[in-house]
Amino acid sequence: DPTVSLPAGPVARRRSVGVPIGAVCIGGDGPVVVQSMTNTDTADIVGTARQVAELARAGSELVRLTVNTAEAAAAVPRIRDRLAMTGCSVPLIGDFHYNGHLLLEREPACAEALAKYRINPGNVGFGKKKDTQFAAIIETALRHGKPVRIGANWGSIDQAMVAAQMDENSRRAQPWDAARVAREALIRSALDSAARAEELGLPRERIVLSCKVSGVQELIAVYRDLGARCDYALHLGLTEAGMGSKGIVASAAALAVLLQEGLGDTIRISLTPEPGESRTREVIVAQELLQTMGLRAFTPLVTACPGCGRTTSTFFQELARTVQDHVRAKMPEWRIKYDGVENMTLAVMGCIVNGPGESRYSNIGISLPGTGEAPAAPVFIDGEKAMTLRGENIAQEFVGVVDDYVAR
Ligand code: SF4
Repeated sequence: DPTVSLPAGPVARRRSVGVPIGAVCIGGDGPVVVQSMTNTDTADIVGTARQVAELARAGSELVRLTVNTAEAAAAVPRIRDRLAMTGCSVPLIGDFHYNGHLLLEREPACAEALAKYRINPGNVGFGKKKDTQFAAIIETALRHGKPVRIGANWGSIDQAMVAAQMDENSRRAQPWDAARVAREALIRSALDSAARAEELGLPRERIVLSCKVSGVQELIAVYRDLGARCDYALHLGLTEAGMGSKGIVASAAALAVLLQEGLGDTIRISLTPEPGESRTREVIVAQELLQTMGLRAFTPLVTACPGCGRTTSTFFQELARTVQDHVRAKMPEWRIKYDGVENMTLAVMGCIVNGPGESRYSNIGISLPGTGEAPAAPVFIDGEKAMTLRGENIAQEFVGVVDDYVAR
């Protein structure tokens, strides 16, 4: 069955049904896909298109935007057109809550411009309206040939499902603890909604699931369970990871465990940006997580020693920063030909203690002289000493060596 995946990385991937979204495929034989979300007002066409383009340039393979008002829905096709004029074809995902059925029905151009819809079974409607509003969204997806992510979220869980699970638990001979009941409610909310979407005619090749929570251990427990109970493609992420290093560490801790177990077909790192910080940071973190785990290769990985008392000048840190920034800036240009190839590593080492050894194990390595040592920096290419750089322009010359190597 061509829609079912085989192991696609250094860890055995869970078999999932592939969901094509434009030129990208979530699940199946596809690699783990990086996605992100804008934080602009979607009704602001220029600002949103600019941020989508920025995220795509940074390497986001799918970009989600909130579609919460009639103005936002009307803006979507214009954002799509604006991006197309600049050559940006990244698939756009519409994030709908509460009124998705109305917006999609009233703005068919929005329904068409989006490559995928995300709906939350916890707030697609309540009581009897829930069934009809859910069905309306699925029918729109069928009419336009679009896939749907059914994204359950602990912060907006379907309360009827919680009540049903508590009721079921009270009849168990050995009742589950509250955390397990809550997990079950979240998972059942996603699975039951997916089953209903299939009943309405949406094929598995157009369904992605997620069950997001904000705790690391909870997320791991939820996805282990969810992954074992279905073969839908899975979107992974902490729902609110937090700011700065806390958000990065929490996301990496949770997602690394799951990815290592083969779970997850697309990831989003939900970081709260610092004031003035670029939204692209979450894309860079997602890429670096996948790359350091050996699941994808986006850019050369820079290995730098931490420095110590042997590197008391700032030259070593400046070199490491120059190399890392250069690699990151070159990413859009290099990505097309680079992705999917083996990881390439660059070593930037502060002195001869570990420098030559580490450099030899990398594709390209440079070992600076430690403070007070002779001012000569040997460069190793594919394990062999290739040259020695000297003088003020070591950083620029080394960057040139890296560019030549990538070009070759
Ligand atoms: Fe210190 Fe040299 Fe080791 Fe770097 S390689 S941490 S400079 S001893």
